[in-house]
Amino acid sequence: MKKRIRQPNLEDMDARLRDASRAIGDRLDAAGFQAWLVGGCVRDLALGIPPHDIDIATDARPDEVRATFERTVAVGAAFGTILVLEEGMGVEVTTFRTDGAYLDGRRPESVRFGTTLEEDAARRDFTCNALYLSPRTGELRDPENGIADLARGHLACVGDPAERFREDGLRILRLGRFAAAFELEVDQATLQAAKRERGSLAGISRERVIHELERIAGGRVPARAIEIFREVGALESCFPGAALRPGCVARLGPEPGFVRLLATLFEDPGIGLGTAEERREARIALLKSLRISRRAQAGCLRIWELEEWLEGTRRDPEGCTGARAVRILRDPWFADAFAVHRACRASVSPAAADLAARAASSKPEDLHPEPLVTAADLRDAGLEPGPEFGVVLREVEDLQLERRLRTRSDAIAWLRERVASARRKPSSQDSPEGEE
Ligand code: ATP
Ligand code: MG
Repeated sequence: MKKRIRQPNLEDMDARLRDASRAIGDRLDAAGFQAWLVGGCVRDLALGIPPHDIDIATDARPDEVRATFERTVAVGAAFGTILVLEEGMGVEVTTFRTDGAYLDGRRPESVRFGTTLEEDAARRDFTCNALYLSPRTGELRDPENGIADLARGHLACVGDPAERFREDGLRILRLGRFAAAFELEVDQATLQAAKRERGSLAGISRERVIHELERIAGGRVPARAIEIFREVGALESCFPGAALRPGCVARLGPEPGFVRLLATLFEDPGIGLGTAEERREARIALLKSLRISRRAQAGCLRIWELEEWLEGTRRDPEGCTGARAVRILRDPWFADAFAVHRACRASVSPAAADLAARAASSKPEDLHPEPLVTAADLRDAGLEPGPEFGVVLREVEDLQLERRLRTRSDAIAWLRERVASARRKPSSQDSPEGEE
């Protein structure tokens, strides 16, 4: 798809970023060096998208960059990157470089500084990411014809794509991400090379893979990225053995977020297993193998459990009522579970749809009403503190959620009756067969 391209212009940038760009550009210029905005920020300006951050490329060497600015952090000095603190923000300033051989498919074994802008462009991943804009003069440098590619709606590697993917397999995931983010067609040679070289993804660290997936999940059309990964076989290389469902992702909609995307992409491994315990074990085993954060693991697990329950409401709509329904509705993962249910099942369970409609119209106080009674009330009613406390508080809350108890005095009266009747018929704990 053809794109409307603008002349990249500093004026289209957020004032903070513009001020920092100019300040750094002026400083480097005064010290006798070049300074160019580079990469994503120039590409975004060309596409009419406000850049979210800036990167600067320079012919100054890392030690020269450090000497030019008062406040710097050597975040990646070996690769030429110095973080410059300017105008209240940190900006990565990276020395023009050419990369030596990539041994581990991730980082060049060596980098060579003292090179030209054109050589620096040649080590970048895609032609549209090899654009340079002077913060002082507004001059644009485009040695890889990235603007022409963007205008054609084309995403292509700089140089020989197979070599570029062999050097760094993560570029295959970046390919999907940029194609999706900017609705670009992947150049055929680039696509074929990604397919052939997908094996290089296996060597990529899990953190980098997850980080890319997180960025894809925050994008407008993650399904487009996933579709490209399916086409080149990238997902199977990153997640061997997992059953993947790219088709479902398409129905998920924009910006699903990482956990929702994962829970959709990976088929619930518990489906069809006999007992709840077996299902849980299968889910936990898969999630562990993905090596995602604990929060993401817990989220996926809960989404799959809730989704299974939502699916179950087809057979048992009654299970979807009363306090139980409210407790499900207020689960922090409910909206995600419903989204996954809708994306992955042939049809939505009618009872689940009712529940989702209710979630949308519920006020916070419907789901989390002020408790009618407290632990002190339980003591006053004659209950001894112990495990029974939690049970009774939950009973009161259930009745409140079902609106069978509406006021504090009703709840206290109910409580007194509850304690009295428990005394009349002793519970099993007090029975002669009890352990104590
Ligand atoms: P975003 O808008 O997502 O930040 P970006 O293009 O700025 O996109 P970054 O990851 O911030 O992406 O990288 C900045 C620039 O560094 C890229 O535009 C590209 O020129 C270069 N780059 C980043 N990662 C790679 C890589 N793996 N291989 C080659 N060049 C890369
Ligand atoms: Mg960037």
